[in-house]
Amino acid sequence: MFLPVLWVVGHAIVCAAPSEDVAANEACHARTAGYLSRLVSGQLRASAYFDCFRPWPHMQAFLDALSHMHPSALTSVPVGSTTTGLPIVAYHVHAATAGKKALYVQATQHAREWIAGSSAVYLVAALLDAPGAVPFDVIVVPVVNVDGYEATWTTSRRYQRKNARAVDLNRNWPNPHWDSQGNSTPVTSDAFPGSSALSETETSSLHTWLQVQAPGLAAVVDLHSYAGQVLFPCADGHDKAPLQTQQLAMAMAQAMGADYGSEQMLRGLPLVGTFRDYAHRQLQTLSFTVELAGDDFVVPAARIRSHGEEIVRATFRLAQGLLTPPSST
Ligand SMILES: [Zn+2]
Repeated sequence: MFLPVLWVVGHAIVCAAPSEDVAANEACHARTAGYLSRLVSGQLRASAYFDCFRPWPHMQAFLDALSHMHPSALTSVPVGSTTTGLPIVAYHVHAATAGKKALYVQATQHAREWIAGSSAVYLVAALLDAPGAVPFDVIVVPVVNVDGYEATWTTSRRYQRKNARAVDLNRNWPNPHWDSQGNSTPVTSDAFPGSSALSETETSSLHTWLQVQAPGLAAVVDLHSYAGQVLFPCADGHDKAPLQTQQLAMAMAQAMGADYGSEQMLRGLPLVGTFRDYAHRQLQTLSFTVELAGDDFVVPAARIRSHGEEIVRATFRLAQGLLTPPSST
């Protein structure tokens, strides 16, 4: 009679408590308080902001502060909304050279992949620290799954992957093979694709915005963790990206370092409904998924800058490859 009560109480405590990872990063927030007033133009990557992982309001405040420092180089625009009505925000880094197409970089479709979001913010800081280094506009959405990301901070669900309706956003994008495999996955699965393609507010609202942007996009990169791979289309295995795209993926992996390789399908497994395939087929742009290297979704904060630098090198290499005409041989 007594034991179930203890279990219920214990269970309630476990469910209510944020994770140890959250506690460690909140202690880091306290240690680094006031960093927004100590930002130095040209040395943004050195900011104590990057000493810790940050919840979405901190990320927004930091990026908005950078925008105030560099109003002509960085602007923000709402590009979608979440299940609970929160805005999905893009940060647009404007290149010094006008007229070039843009690179689109998004992260954190999967809520638990904090290192993907921190690397996207780091990329914005690096682009502002080195104006002109990338002769493309770069549009960065650091957190697609804002609801899920917030849940990883405020509940015990540090390993939550899906959105507020338990849908894997990176299986919810339109795909010609969607129906054949999508609906066989149960809702309890971490890869539940939803009831239909674009059934989720996050994907449908971003799709509306991306369709307008598509003619101006040179390439897209979708950031994830953890596998140490630069992946090229198609994840579903039905089509293969042109050789130029494959070679560019390999070059990006080489630029990122020894922990990285490149391939079409992660571990050879076909996946339907990914953003990578949607961008390749529907937006008709070069499309890559970057899986940061590692061995867990929980990453020590000491690795924020080193992984951020990997994404910076990959982006610089991508831009360089886009400017180099493909070989005719
Ligand atoms: Zn992921």
